[in-house]
Amino acid sequence: MFDLSTQDITYLPGVGPQRAAILNKELGIYSLHDLLYYFPYKYVDRSRLYYIHEIDGNMPYIQLKGEILSFETFGEGRQRRLVGHFSDGTGVVDLVWFQGIKFLINKYKVHQEYIIFGKPTVFNGRINIAHPDIDNASELTLSTMGLQPYYNTTEKMKRSFLNSHAIEKLTETLLSRITSPLEETLSKKILEEHHLMPLTDALRNIHFPKNPELLRKAQLRLKFEELFYVQLNILRYSKDRQRKYRGFIFSKVGNVFNTFYHDNLPFELTGAQKRVIKEIRKDVGSGRQMNRLLQGDVGSGKTLVALMSMLMAIDNGFQACMMAPTEILANQHYETVRQLLFGMDVRVGLLTGSVKGKKRQEILSGLLTGDIHVLIGTHAVIEDTVNFSSLGLVVIDEQHRFGVAQRAKLWNKNVTPPHVLVMTATPIPRTLAMTLYGDLDVSVIDELPPGRKPIETRHQFDNRRESLYAFIKKQIEEGHQVYVVYPLIKESEKMDIKNLEEGYIHICEVFPDYKICKVHGKMKATEKDEEMQRFVSGEAQIMVATTVIEVGVNVPNASVMVIENAERFGLSQLHQLRGRVGRGAEQSYCILVTNYKLTEDTRKRLEIMVRTNDGFEIAEADLKLRGPGDLEGTQQSGIAFDLKIADIARDGQLLQYVREIAQNIVDNDPESTSSENQILWNQLKKLRKTNVNWASIS
Ligand code: ADP
Ligand code: MG
Repeated sequence: MFDLSTQDITYLPGVGPQRAAILNKELGIYSLHDLLYYFPYKYVDRSRLYYIHEIDGNMPYIQLKGEILSFETFGEGRQRRLVGHFSDGTGVVDLVWFQGIKFLINKYKVHQEYIIFGKPTVFNGRINIAHPDIDNASELTLSTMGLQPYYNTTEKMKRSFLNSHAIEKLTETLLSRITSPLEETLSKKILEEHHLMPLTDALRNIHFPKNPELLRKAQLRLKFEELFYVQLNILRYSKDRQRKYRGFIFSKVGNVFNTFYHDNLPFELTGAQKRVIKEIRKDVGSGRQMNRLLQGDVGSGKTLVALMSMLMAIDNGFQACMMAPTEILANQHYETVRQLLFGMDVRVGLLTGSVKGKKRQEILSGLLTGDIHVLIGTHAVIEDTVNFSSLGLVVIDEQHRFGVAQRAKLWNKNVTPPHVLVMTATPIPRTLAMTLYGDLDVSVIDELPPGRKPIETRHQFDNRRESLYAFIKKQIEEGHQVYVVYPLIKESEKMDIKNLEEGYIHICEVFPDYKICKVHGKMKATEKDEEMQRFVSGEAQIMVATTVIEVGVNVPNASVMVIENAERFGLSQLHQLRGRVGRGAEQSYCILVTNYKLTEDTRKRLEIMVRTNDGFEIAEADLKLRGPGDLEGTQQSGIAFDLKIADIARDGQLLQYVREIAQNIVDNDPESTSSENQILWNQLKKLRKTNVNWASIS
């Protein structure tokens, strides 16, 4: 048995130095192991004909024999599509085309026998095959091979004749040289208990499956393994940390907390806030280091929970620190906290990029002497020059802007790591949270402070501006304020600023009697703050802005959020923006303005926004529509692993299943000594070595 990962791809027959260089560069394939784990993205089955009654949406590319019963067209303009209802006597599938409609209707005759070749998918409960290949039935030849694999390749590769077929040949050569089984990566017990295919068989069948059933088994085995090790890694890591580090113990609730609770707290806590504070209290008193994710929709009152947790730290002789993603937000937190603590003997410091010179020195020394109890800031607080005398709790607000590595950095500041509370208003779907932050405990504030009316969301086409403007006018006349937001996407920043400027001029023309302010990311911080302040103070009635206002800004008097080009925003982002209104007691509105022509996906996104205010429902839908790679939050933080075959959006159930298995193993084998699990611990060690990010997961 030899280790494929030490075998250079160069020496595989058919490769050589030139092709090896391309494989290195384009696909990151360096070893035989890498090639073996470069999986096909699709398969075609030309080996047999299928019956419509046997097929479902999980099939590879397949062949059917039958006739088109009738044609129908749907939709208008770019949405126009042709549907051919196709039957073989055992059922009906819809053949769908989006292009060449006239040509197709003429070319294909109804009630003539054809061979259809394509990938079935399920759409609205019906089986669809989009843009199928169609041949006359007389031209059918069945291939003697099983399913044929297709591999993704790049343009550069194709130019050097390294196309999918070439990869297929190389993989075939490689597999033919593997004559004895490869070292198994799952324990015998797991393989048997969960009826999984042995590794070597799975690898053969993932490339060259004899039939769809074997393909499914191979996929299951490999997905299982992939998700299992991601979970085993996180759970092992968290168990080890629990064993290694004792957490600081905040044993009492003291004066500071109680004074605040009885004298300063301006309102009754919501039930959810009380519950979460209890959960936190239990954590910090347990002797275990707290790692808690606090999810709560915008406006649910997370800041207060953070503050009260920080007061617990102070009561026990510790300092606390709160980190926000932007300077504006840090300032706002600073002001809020100071107001809430008014008259109390708690010293609060602010540290952001613009705190410089003597002021900065004062803060730094105040932290060292323990003179400052609470530090609020941006990532300036994790710079190496910032040191605390006794940091007991760190709160990270809007966590998705902070990377995993940045969080880890905080822990290095102490020998004993502080308790960590991560707060986010971007609800992370359960499956994703489990994969990303497997060791975080999760608290949820699922209740808004009383008196809030749910925001009413409407979708409006941009040719109906008069009614929109009339509506805005009415709201302003009733004393409210209005946001108008334009998209800002990095690649076309210049154009977006232009959109914003034009929009601003346009709004100024439409509303000559109102004061209008303007904020975008390219402005100087001081200028931005000034404009923002004009809106916060109520001097300006309308704020025209890019998404810089997405996070944190709190203007309870604002009742309308107009989002221009709403089709260009992701669901979570729309939800975040919407959360800027509905903070007061009045009815608030969110108006999504789009062009008339919309893709199916966009239409779905907007429908979801109009239907629900529930951040979790929206996050789940976003995950399904876009996949995890695109989710806000995973991108910035850099997902800590790279899934080759499993799909977090689709394999949620499997993830849950393997997590329980991994949890059991970690619980029953706390020292990693059981001989039956050695195979697992060895494999985990290997993966931690090759996946740089795995070691820093937290
Ligand atoms: P988020 O969870 O979005 O960070 P905030 O902490 O900014 O929400 O709170 C939103 C608003 O709700 C703030 O103005 C805050 O003072 C107010 N608030 C928080 N908790 C309560 C409560 N229990 N009752 C009434 N208002 C509350
Ligand atoms: Mg907040």
